[in-house]
Amino acid sequence: MSVHVHVRLTDGYAVTEDGQLLERSSCHCGAAWETTYQVDEGEPESI
Ligand SMILES: [Zn+2]
Repeated sequence: MSVHVHVRLTDGYAVTEDGQLLERSSCHCGAAWETTYQVDEGEPESI
């Protein structure tokens, strides 16, 4: 009863058309993930 615990190995990063940061990661078992991060590059709204 051994449960495989995925190990996230980052394969690289990319930027989506929306300007979000896309992180590609995968495990040695074949599972893969794509995680997107919202990158706020806009001007800070400091009024
Ligand atoms: Zn795995």
